[in-house]
Amino acid sequence: MIYLDHNATSPMRDHAKLAVFAALAETGNASSVHAAGRAARARVEAAREAVAKLAGAKPSSVIFTSCGSEANALALRGAVAGALAAEDRITRLFVSATEHESVRANTAALAESVPGLKLSEIPVTKDGVVDLAALRLQLMHGKGRVLVSVMAANNETGVLQDLGAVARLVRTEGGEDSLLHVDAVQAAGRVALGFDALGADYMSLSAHKIGGPQGAGALLVKDGAPLAPLVAGGGQEMGRRSGTENVVAIAGFGAAAEEVVAFADVARIQNLRDRFEAELKRIAPDAVIFGRDAGRLPNTSNFAVAGLSAETALIGLDLDGIAVSSGAACSSGKVKPSHVLTAMGIDEVLVRSGLRVSFGWTNSEADVDAALQALARLLARTRNAKAA
Ligand code: PLP
Repeated sequence: MIYLDHNATSPMRDHAKLAVFAALAETGNASSVHAAGRAARARVEAAREAVAKLAGAKPSSVIFTSCGSEANALALRGAVAGALAAEDRITRLFVSATEHESVRANTAALAESVPGLKLSEIPVTKDGVVDLAALRLQLMHGKGRVLVSVMAANNETGVLQDLGAVARLVRTEGGEDSLLHVDAVQAAGRVALGFDALGADYMSLSAHKIGGPQGAGALLVKDGAPLAPLVAGGGQEMGRRSGTENVVAIAGFGAAAEEVVAFADVARIQNLRDRFEAELKRIAPDAVIFGRDAGRLPNTSNFAVAGLSAETALIGLDLDGIAVSSGAACSSGKVKPSHVLTAMGIDEVLVRSGLRVSFGWTNSEADVDAALQALARLLARTRNAKAA
């Protein structure tokens, strides 16, 4: 199989596998005082340092979670509940139109359940970039403490946000006590993050998108930012996320973070993506590449060829041994038009043809060529069927 779906999950790196095997071979609760517990603790703390370094943060900012979705839930629900408990309530919540379902679902649930909390969607331009002028107006009109959630990079299109500009706007127009959450699940290991330098209050990460195991994530929290835990109990993670730490997955997360922080493979992967897109345009000149005029992740290509439905293409490519995705993996299986492409104002017919190819550390030029050949065969079949 040729795996071109690294944004859904990236195969585990050898370094991460070794760390996982080593942790699996040992017993120990990271909270136990005996030697076995201390060994488990050492693995967790080494991973915390590696994850903090990857995000440009202090190790003490890192809270391990079970996944990126939990990190997003903890940031958003934890901020709202923490601010309420500190009697400095958040009353205005702004969320970009292209956020991941885990941000959308949690913010929608908050707006329904927390009295006095108003949720607003920040529009994006046709390139999928947050409309800063619209955000400025939204922030200027209204009173009350603000929480803004903007992703670093979109999972479907790879479009990057200008986080520096967003952070400045949030501080200047939203007020001194405003809060910023960044979902950096797809950006980690692909572009530099700089949590401390950015001045964000919360940032979400996920191990399996960087070649670590599934089952570990992290939320970075700035000192002093409000945060009520979602899971109470034994007080692990400095009381911010109770539950025995998943030492095995966290050890793998740390090892993957150590490897990707060097960004050694990024230029090579970008060349693969660029080669794919150049050749795609040759075999299908009418192909539309979404977000192409914006800054994008180096590994992601989301495109549509009119007349070739995403479903037909997915099945056809799968039969040829090529794994790609239509829209977000988390919503695959559900036939529903992508809210990301829809928010970019793309025609519904094209949205339904949207295919995502996402490259990663396992891929080679031969993979790109094989995918293009399979795509060319598929296009020829589709066109012949239409002509008949
Ligand atoms: N945020 C983004 C942008 C994602 O792409 C994903 C997963 O696809 C998540 C959050 C959720 O991460 P996890 O799969 O670790 O729950």
